[in-house]
Amino acid sequence: MDDGKPQNFIQQIIRQDLEEGVVSRVVTRFPPEPNGYLHIGHAKSICLNFGLAEQFDGVCNLRFDDTNPEREEDEYVRAIQQDVRWLGYQWHGEVRFASDYFDQFYAWAVLLIEQGKAYVCELSAEQTREYRGTLTEPGRNSPYRDRPVEESLVLLEKMRDGEIEEGKMVLRAKIDMASPNINLRDPVLYRIKRRPHHRTGDKWNIYPSYDFSHGQEDAIEGVTHSICTLEFEDHRPLYEWFIENLPVPGKPRQYEFGRLNLNYTVTSKRKLKQLVDERHVDGWDDPRMPTISGLRRRGVTPAAIRNFCDSLAVAKTDGTVDMAQFEHFIRDDLNANAHRAMCVLDPLKVVLSNVAEGETEMLTAPAHPNRDDLGTRQLPFTREIYIDRADFSDDTALSRKKFKRLVLGDYVRLRAAYVIRADDLVRDGEGNIVEIQASIVPGTVGEDPPEGIKPRGVIHWVSATENVECEVRLYDRLFLEPSPGAGGRNFLDSVNPDSLVIKTGCKGEIGLAETERDRHYQFEREGYFYPDSRYSDAGRPVFNQTIGLKDNWAKGGN
Ligand code: ATP
Ligand code: MG
Repeated sequence: MDDGKPQNFIQQIIRQDLEEGVVSRVVTRFPPEPNGYLHIGHAKSICLNFGLAEQFDGVCNLRFDDTNPEREEDEYVRAIQQDVRWLGYQWHGEVRFASDYFDQFYAWAVLLIEQGKAYVCELSAEQTREYRGTLTEPGRNSPYRDRPVEESLVLLEKMRDGEIEEGKMVLRAKIDMASPNINLRDPVLYRIKRRPHHRTGDKWNIYPSYDFSHGQEDAIEGVTHSICTLEFEDHRPLYEWFIENLPVPGKPRQYEFGRLNLNYTVTSKRKLKQLVDERHVDGWDDPRMPTISGLRRRGVTPAAIRNFCDSLAVAKTDGTVDMAQFEHFIRDDLNANAHRAMCVLDPLKVVLSNVAEGETEMLTAPAHPNRDDLGTRQLPFTREIYIDRADFSDDTALSRKKFKRLVLGDYVRLRAAYVIRADDLVRDGEGNIVEIQASIVPGTVGEDPPEGIKPRGVIHWVSATENVECEVRLYDRLFLEPSPGAGGRNFLDSVNPDSLVIKTGCKGEIGLAETERDRHYQFEREGYFYPDSRYSDAGRPVFNQTIGLKDNWAKGGN
């Protein structure tokens, strides 16, 4: 139970509850509304809720908070389950749905009416606002507040049966219109929505509010610690009011923590949906999206997300976390596990004059510099090879310190292969360099070159005759500003128009042809890459750049 790490305030509360016997088994839940895909902010809540259950030998439920039929869909229900599992968590028992409890909620609403604690109100939306008062002024009682119990019962039934128009009536709790907490000023329990629900179909024409359902859902499921984000703090007295005033089977307690905000992106389902609907991205799982499915497609690993979430403070304040912190965990995990490979993104042909035509020498390189368990890879070495255009210069005056690559007349080492020297070059009619003529220094595979030969550095390469043609997709941050939409502007105005660069005609080493769908790569000197699950074809892989090797943003690059 105690792994020696400092405990956050929720862990401290749970420890104490267990010690004092307030609870015997911890039950938490992750309660997404199925109105969009999960994003990195949800991951914080998932890791927290499932993590607490794990730490304290309890259980965590997955419950869909599907009380609003307007925006909810089965597609989201499926995607959310997939994402939670992919993150490495398994919920307790069956998936649960708030809609499974609708009959119970209705029975409790009737009970509250019968006890004089709820009433059907016919004020218009505008009148309701007027009657509610403000933060500094108390509200006024609705003229319907004291209508007979019988009348409210009949009207609620009519609301349920679809006999009343939307917006004409609501069911409200009778609490206190003068409460300093506006949430307690006769909050709405049921609204009329004459539309079908993704699970209950046409059965209901009224749907419970968040406040009238969440705590009761927790109670029904035996949840002990109901953890939510800070915006619900002011709702807690109401949460408790329902638990106290209804014959619920449990006594859950609500605790709030600060939500995760990441700079250079948005973590709001509404905004993410807008990016999808208005085609700024190509779907919820576009690799630039901060959704779990987008991160997965991009090649971010579940371990990276979990480690990142574990690093976050669970505190009583909201904060914004620097994207670089997330990226650190992405690189950290990939560096330890990704297979190394070579892929030339911008190929420039090099002809090696002292290598025989048609000859192939198989060289071997480790799949990972310090992971023997990942095995080795085969690199055919041939007379014609490709190097990256950016790795060659004909400027012989370039200092060795500044340019550790191939320069005309000088030496460089090819990764896991020979030291070569650039002897000459070929230009096309427009003066562009189209080919390098070079020669190998024999005997230099895995061996130092003879005295006097000092390669400038090590560059990557690929055989020009035995390689895999592939497409590489390079990504930059989706937004150009740290807080998109700050200062009341439209967040879409800061969408980065250059966040996707597609490079075709890239040349990868032969092993990339049999790319396993779920293998992460470090393309040496280029970054981390992952096969795209949608666009990759047999024999012509498409790789998404997960992340560069270094943080270019921090250095003011990019
Ligand atoms: P959004 O604002 O993106 O629509 P939401 O809170 O409406 O998010 P829900 O599906 O209701 O989305 O969220 C499920 C759970 O995830 C809730 O307990 C919620 O508090 C939590 N959650 C949502 N966003 C974040 C976030 N950015 N950081 C931490 N927890 C979050
Ligand atoms: Mg919500």
